[in-house]
Amino acid sequence: MPSRQKNVLAAKWNVNGNAIGAPDLTLSDNQVFGSNVFSQAIQRQRLPKDVYRKLSRTLAKGEALDTSLADSVALAMKEWAMEKGATHYAHVFQPLTNVTAEKHDSFYGPTGEGTALAEFSGRELIQAEPDASSFPSGGLRTTFEARGYTAWDPTSPAFILENPNGALLCIPTAFVSWTGEALDNKIPLLRSMDALSKSAMRALRLFGNESAVRIFTSVGPEQEYFLIDEQYYFERPDLYTTGRTLFGAKPPKGQELDDHYFGSIPERVLAYMLDCEKELAKVGVPIKTRHNEVAPSQYEVAPIYENSNVGSDHQQLTMQILQNVARRYGLVCLLHEKPFAGINGSGKHNNWSMGTDEGENLMEPGDTPHENLQFLFFCAAVIQAVNKHQGLLRASVAGAGQDHRLGANEAPPAIISIFLGSELEKVFQAIERGEVGESTPESFLGLGTPVLPPLPMHGGDRNRTSPFAFTGNKFEFRALGSSQSLSLPNTVLNTIIAEAVDYLSEELEDALETGTELEAALRPILQRSYAANKQVVFSGDGYSEEWTTEAENRGLLNLHTTADALPYLISDDTETVFSNYGVLSQRELESRYEVMLEQYVMTLNIEAETASSMAKTMLLPAAARYKTLLLSAELGDLAGQTDALISQLVTKIKALETANLSENQPKGDIQKAAEYTRDTVIPAMNAVREVGDKLEAVVADDLWPLPKYSEILFVK
Ligand code: ADP
Ligand code: MG
Repeated sequence: MPSRQKNVLAAKWNVNGNAIGAPDLTLSDNQVFGSNVFSQAIQRQRLPKDVYRKLSRTLAKGEALDTSLADSVALAMKEWAMEKGATHYAHVFQPLTNVTAEKHDSFYGPTGEGTALAEFSGRELIQAEPDASSFPSGGLRTTFEARGYTAWDPTSPAFILENPNGALLCIPTAFVSWTGEALDNKIPLLRSMDALSKSAMRALRLFGNESAVRIFTSVGPEQEYFLIDEQYYFERPDLYTTGRTLFGAKPPKGQELDDHYFGSIPERVLAYMLDCEKELAKVGVPIKTRHNEVAPSQYEVAPIYENSNVGSDHQQLTMQILQNVARRYGLVCLLHEKPFAGINGSGKHNNWSMGTDEGENLMEPGDTPHENLQFLFFCAAVIQAVNKHQGLLRASVAGAGQDHRLGANEAPPAIISIFLGSELEKVFQAIERGEVGESTPESFLGLGTPVLPPLPMHGGDRNRTSPFAFTGNKFEFRALGSSQSLSLPNTVLNTIIAEAVDYLSEELEDALETGTELEAALRPILQRSYAANKQVVFSGDGYSEEWTTEAENRGLLNLHTTADALPYLISDDTETVFSNYGVLSQRELESRYEVMLEQYVMTLNIEAETASSMAKTMLLPAAARYKTLLLSAELGDLAGQTDALISQLVTKIKALETANLSENQPKGDIQKAAEYTRDTVIPAMNAVREVGDKLEAVVADDLWPLPKYSEILFVK
């Protein structure tokens, strides 16, 4: 009887040597950081002075690009890249999936005389035409009008990606249809950054700031991931086709011991992390922290924050490099939101803030009462925006993998609420009661006692259960999934906050016009805004059942699944705010809604078919063999038990196959298809799993065809 060979891990790595294909780890960090980036320093060295000056202005002030610069930039970029060994260049872009796409072109073109010359002019830098028809567009593009263009984004630096057999110049680009509609995630993010900059500048002027010219939003993502042995990955069709285990009984040793979190990192894993950090450093991603996470084999990595556009591009690179480098160590990096049932899933914390081009962080409480008025104003805008657009925020993080986390028994909850921290909450409560000045905690705001330095907020209270928390000088949106692009959630945040800032600015302008002093004008505005939106502020345990009830009483949304959340992408409030700020047109919004629903349905269909095929061709035969074995050993009772489970499995597989039949699925209405998947396909798949996991617990270990959780989850 053939059985699975266990524990023969390919020795691709050993503690003393380097992994196969590992880069040189002897360079110091200083030499490495940004060495493969066409950075400002490189540009200064290599570009004609006037070109460099104009380009820098574009970058610093967010001005429109003067296209006559392109030829000079292209020439310098090409020479630099070829000196570094690049033979090809690629326009990289983010289609409406969470991944990055790229099309490679050679620097060489035929000259007609049998030789080849490196070719890369301003035209090739600025624009390319990938075959647009193969990317999802949600109806923005029918195949006969499949033209789409990638357009150079000079605000996100070009870089070189090394490969053991060559190097590739990567040029961050936007992806747009020939009619000018955004086919990607970058364009709306850039538009939203512009929108918020305009609104926040208008507000800043009211606070007397005459020198700043532009506001940048910033993002610092904390990325969670699992690392498992490559061998186990390839032994499990569920892992390599869907990224998560569709079967697997609870291991005897799970995360209940909590010994993994902040524990020491296994040496092989640490070597992997160092290697990743080195690779990320080369392409200019400023990685800052790493540690173990709560679940076994789960880890986290976080960069220093950057402006939202660059930070979002760098996050895509981080996910790519985490996955690529793992293979050098015989490991696979899982970015799925829920690879293992019963074990914590993986998320991504999106730290968000905004600041001026002069370096002032608008989300940081200041040292003077005046600065604090400004801080409270922007804070009130965030609270108002999050309350008004809860459903949209929830929709911006929706996806099949996320349904195992949000609204299931796991962090964070699907109800969007804000944690302000006790000091800031007290300040707003005092404002609401009209008591500013007397009961405001002086330690925090410095109001009244300017001689005392304000207490740093960072060391203060924390609430790990809140999906949206103020953490001292930024807000942390914690509901993103580990595999998600940062673009949509940040596009949403920037846009809804721009709307709230304008709303409050208008009120403030009206009050100031009547000659009222700034502070006196602002107080009633903050008071009204907080009173109207404080229902979204919550500092208790977000995982508790009481919160679900209380949130319902407060009228907050609780959108459990992707199918429930996505309609908020096309709600009236969403369409209004996105079109008012020119971030996404109604058609562009509808396309995103459709693509996200399609992906949800498609992902679950693949999962369901994989589950039914594994159950039929792997689990069922193993159980049947085991039954034969029991019968031949004359263990009739045990054979009977196994037989009962086998019949259940057969029934459940049939039901799943029926649910999967395409003639049983609603056609023509993608929302209905998503609801059918949620209500019929998922339960059928879960039922098969339930029996499969029971069989795993009884079938002889050497007959069981899949590596078990207890093997997979503990990297040795
Ligand atoms: P914690 O979540 O425990 O506060 P850190 O202090 O390490 O962890 O910060 C988490 C992330 O927040 C980091 O990626 C960091 O770069 C980011 N961050 C810090 N300040 C800002 C900011 N002003 N804007 C956006 N992200 C920020
Ligand atoms: Mg965090």
